[in-house]
Formats: sequence, C-alpha cells, structure tokens
Amino acid sequence: MKRFLIVVLLLAGVYAIATKADPYGYQSGIPILMFHRFSSTSTSLYSVKPLEFKAMLKVLNSDKYCMIDLLEYTLASFLKRCAKKKVFAISFDDGHASQFRFLKNGKLDPNSGLGVLLGVFPQAKATFFLNVTNGGAPFGQQSQQKIAFLRAKGLNIGNHTVSHPDMSKLSNQAVIREIDGVCQYFGQSSMILAYPYGFMPPKSITTYQTKCRVPAAFRAWLGYFEGERETIKTGSLLAPLPNTPEFSSRRLTYPRFTISSFQDFQRDIMRNYRWQPLP
Ligand SMILES: [Zn+2]
Repeated sequence: MKRFLIVVLLLAGVYAIATKADPYGYQSGIPILMFHRFSSTSTSLYSVKPLEFKAMLKVLNSDKYCMIDLLEYTLASFLKRCAKKKVFAISFDDGHASQFRFLKNGKLDPNSGLGVLLGVFPQAKATFFLNVTNGGAPFGQQSQQKIAFLRAKGLNIGNHTVSHPDMSKLSNQAVIREIDGVCQYFGQSSMILAYPYGFMPPKSITTYQTKCRVPAAFRAWLGYFEGERETIKTGSLLAPLPNTPEFSSRRLTYPRFTISSFQDFQRDIMRNYRWQPLP
C-alpha cells in the first residue's frame, strides 16, 4: 500500500511538472510581430517608440534568431535557412506615413519604421500589408516610389484590402472587390492577406472567386496580455510551425500580435516558452 502511494505521488509530481511547463499541450511556434505607427510621443496601443523598436531589433540581431517574411512562412521555405534558430517575422499594417518616410534630402528617415529596421538589419525581411484608399495613398506621400523601394529591397507587400473594411459585414462581391483591387493597384497576382481589424469575411477565404489568389491570411491579436500567464493561456499568440497539424488545419488564418513597447516584447515574446529554436 505504501509503495502504491509513493508511485501515485511520483506520478502526480511528474504530471504537475509537465503541465506546469506546457499546461495546454502546445507545440512551439513563431512570433509574427505587428506594427502600425511609430511615434516617440504617442501612447496609443497601435504606436511604438522608434527607440523601443530599435531596442527590440537589437535583441533579435543575433545568431540565435532568424528573420523571415510572411510569404516564406506561407511557403515553409525558411526551414533549412533557419535551422537551429528561433524564427520571427515582422509585419507592418495600413501603410501609415510613420512606417516609411523620406526626408527633405530624399534619404530614408532613420526614425521611420523602415528606417529603424534597415538601420539594424540592412538585409531585413519583412511584410507590409497595404491598403489602397485607407486614409490616403500608401505611406502618405510618394507611394509609387516607396513601393518600388520596397520591391528593390526584396521586401514583401501583402494585401490588406482596398479600403480597410470590417470584412465580416461584406457581400460576396464586396469581398472580391476589396481583395482584387489591391492586386490591381500593386500589380501582383498572388498575395497574402491580413484581415483588417482581424475580422474574417462571412465565408472561408478560399471560397471567394478572386482573381488574386490568396494562399494564406493573417489575423490580428492584441499583445497587451496581463503577464506571462495570459500569454500562455491564449496559446494562439505564436503562429504554428510548418509540418505541424496546427499549421495545416489553420492554413488560412495565422495569428500575429501587436507589440506597443519593449516591455510587451520582453514579456510576450522573449519569455514565451513556446518560442523554441527550429530542429
Ligand atoms: Zn489594418
């Protein structure tokens, strides 16, 4: 009886340790960071201070990490290049002017999102989810010149719909117009999509007869969870690794999340136990 009790206690102990380390049974995943505005004065959840963005990038600028864009993620084409490293992706939404600004002398503003990014990672891989008519032209000024600049740098342009509507309220035709209009504007036939506000259209994205093929779509999550426990609880903060059941079953909706501060970054990403190096 005594021996039985010891075995039971041992098993309970092992179970407690195992569940503490991985209470929800999640596999490891990839953080896809989402940024909107860059400002040293704004305290909005959708804004980050350029200096704090730079501090995050400096942490990630090490041999331990591997930066990918979301097209590579969708195609699972980064596995070899990033072997044994922790993989992350950076995405920018809405084409806000503070993401990409030219100074009067024609040079890239080092305090704009792209300026900070290329300052730390000259060969950066990142994805810009752009609209056509959301509060003006993409990036506010010199749109075509900027699009050409992004392309020349090999940066990824993603579809964020023409006018940034709540897609859950759209008719079939409107969904198709919103997606195809971006492909027409940017002259690309195959693009990944980010749902505005994270709201998905009434039907699965593959069922819409768009001219512009959508191989994958990304949702938005807010990244200001109350500490590590909440991060673990949501579980969906990291996007699944390719070759996992989560990757194929959620093939059309991958999570991304807002990072507003260096503190968010430390808490939700650097201390997220699910973020493990690739095999
Ligand atoms: Zn947006």
